[in-house]
Amino acid sequence: MPSLYLVPTPIGNLSDMTYRAVQVLNDVDFILAEDTRTSGVLLKHYDISKPLSSFHTHNEHKILNSVLERLKNGETAALISDAGTPGISDPGYLLVRECLKNDVQIECLPGPTALIPALVKSGFPTDRFVFEGFLPHKKGRQKRLAAIANEDKTVILYESPHRLMKLLDEIISLMGPDRYISVSRELTKLYEETITGMAEEVKGHFESGTVKGEFVIIIAGHGFEK
Ligand code: SAM
Repeated sequence: MPSLYLVPTPIGNLSDMTYRAVQVLNDVDFILAEDTRTSGVLLKHYDISKPLSSFHTHNEHKILNSVLERLKNGETAALISDAGTPGISDPGYLLVRECLKNDVQIECLPGPTALIPALVKSGFPTDRFVFEGFLPHKKGRQKRLAAIANEDKTVILYESPHRLMKLLDEIISLMGPDRYISVSRELTKLYEETITGMAEEVKGHFESGTVKGEFVIIIAGHGFEK
């Protein structure tokens, strides 16, 4: 039986919680949460009351061993992040790696993540794709963008709202104004929208409105034709 469960949580719409996710959170001995306040709202919504510890990028190294000890001693835990699948641009990788090294069984439940609906909604090829997550803010950013420009597969990026326009400008200057892209905003939420077209057109859409919310950017592969 697994000792650590990675449990995906909704990226907006609370109803996207799976039945099994609720079951597992109710069954484990304790829950590790990226932000106990954020997760508290979700847990309350589902009437789940379990001991909650914080597990985030700033303390994961520090508490890793004590978590491992508890798991090795027979306790079970679930790791949840603020939204989506733990380990995907969120804490999780380090704990999974250490569990595997220590023969602690893990299980990752399938469930919400932002990249898949954005990819599927783009209408670009889904048979082969590359998830690049967040680009570095400064050092190495241009190099990564230059590699993406020549990538044949569909590329998926996460970006914060205040850097979206900068990213669109970079795509236009490095990949051309006619590169096809798709920007999905606020997936599963009230103001969800997906804008797909040439990079210049998509930029025009966001220039004329406010750039708020959460964004996934899909870049069609080099050589993609509509
Ligand atoms: N673990 C999450 C997952 O599985 O998708 C990703 C967490 S990462 C810290 C947060 C980023 O995911 C946001 O900046 C945005 O790029 C993307 N994201 C999360 N929720 C989203 C949503 N509802 N709509 C669009 N993008 C979203």
